[in-house]
Amino acid sequence: KDDSSQPLNEHKDKLLDGLLTAGFDERSCLSRYESALYRKASPHKPSSYLLSRLRSYEALHKSCGPYTESYNKTVEKLRSGSKVGPTDCNYVVWIAFSGLGNRILTLASAFLYALLTNRVLLVDRGTDMADLFCEPFPEMSWLLPLDFPLNQFNKFDQKFPQCHGYMLKNSILNNSKTSLPLFLYLHLVHDYDDHDKLFFCDQYQALLQKVPWLIMKTDNYFVPSLFLIHSFEEELNNLFPDKGTVFHHLGRYLFHPSNPVWGLITRYYQAYLANADERVGIQIRVFDIGTGPFQHVLDQILACSLKEKLLPEVNNQEPILNPTGNRKSKAVLLTSLSSGYFEKIRNIYWEYPTVNGEVISIYQPSHEEYQQTEKQIHNRKAWAEMYLLSLTDKLITSSWSTFGYVAQSLGGLKPWILKKPENKTVPDPPCVRDMSMEPCFHAPPFYDCKAKTGTDTGAIVPHVRHCEDMSWGLKLV
Ligand code: GDP
Repeated sequence: KDDSSQPLNEHKDKLLDGLLTAGFDERSCLSRYESALYRKASPHKPSSYLLSRLRSYEALHKSCGPYTESYNKTVEKLRSGSKVGPTDCNYVVWIAFSGLGNRILTLASAFLYALLTNRVLLVDRGTDMADLFCEPFPEMSWLLPLDFPLNQFNKFDQKFPQCHGYMLKNSILNNSKTSLPLFLYLHLVHDYDDHDKLFFCDQYQALLQKVPWLIMKTDNYFVPSLFLIHSFEEELNNLFPDKGTVFHHLGRYLFHPSNPVWGLITRYYQAYLANADERVGIQIRVFDIGTGPFQHVLDQILACSLKEKLLPEVNNQEPILNPTGNRKSKAVLLTSLSSGYFEKIRNIYWEYPTVNGEVISIYQPSHEEYQQTEKQIHNRKAWAEMYLLSLTDKLITSSWSTFGYVAQSLGGLKPWILKKPENKTVPDPPCVRDMSMEPCFHAPPFYDCKAKTGTDTGAIVPHVRHCEDMSWGLKLV
């Protein structure tokens, strides 16, 4: 059972093994220090080196963040279009782009890139970033000021004149320092081309290191490919001796639900999940065209749950069974855009007794029907649901979904992944256990920067492999 009755200040894990620092105002962001009351202590400890780098990042952020003297100076250079010269601080600006799960993963990727390159991360607030998340760094905002001179990010695309890949393609960029621009746009969206992908090569990283402002747009968790960049190797080894924990640590460090979202999470948890003996999460995301619910998806979820013993069988012959002793309760948290699967599964466990006497309750917080990324309460619910899934003990997720990735890595859970169905039939096996809790990078480069040829980037080092749910994707294990 959860220990949310324990007084917070007596709780040992409040700072998540040192990932978080004390001293934030608790009321402005209740989730920061209360998360430990809802989540089991993680068996994965952050390295002391990661902790020391987070503390030094916080100091850097404080001295370079919005409207500091250093920030003002470099912004002034951007405004006046002056030539690049030495700057005290260098920055990476993350552009809000794509669905919420994608945004959470890319923001963590951008943060790791900032750590590796001694840059300061600033966040384009888009429509709702400030509404959904607390500030993660002490005493200094991570939000990009609204008066930042280059804030028309919708103009930034693959053909933008200061797009890194575009400049390489047209041989506009070279390494002589005088001709380097003050800022570059990095296009790391799934449709990026071979020139954009040179971002992942050492020689281009050396050049980028000299550019004070990097503006990044991406919808991919590109962390696995950072592990293949030679110049980052040693640092990454020190930061993450246990490689399959990158998002688990960075995600819990960065993403604290804002108070309105924390209200959604804690009220739901206490009402429906806290008192169960075990919590099972089922995340359903169907990428098929047409409106569900689909019979084959329902069959697949049930086949997976029963085969892996995540849910018990029912007896549809007898109306009542008298099981011996076992009255274990299992609460199932189901998330989906539609309510069809929920109703069918709930009815099964209402209409028939379980063969082992377990008491099964099924809950679904919302059914929003379709993705509505521009709507505030929609995104609050999406974030709350990802977080609630991360509080379960066992998790079933859908292939290809970043929504599920966020839940599994925050929760430190290796999920059972529902294989992507072909031709509307249940795959055999219906689900497989994931190799690690890390998210999958859906659009990795397949390029050997030294040999200048194509290569299988999933076969270079043992800790970067192809994903279970997407054969060409890459993930850390
Ligand atoms: P992905 O498309 O599955 O990789 O995940 P994203 O989070 O990037 O985009 C999907 C978006 O659709 C979410 O951010 C939500 O806006 C919405 N969505 C998808 N599934 C659910 C769900 O189960 N619950 C809620 N509340 N929203 C969902």
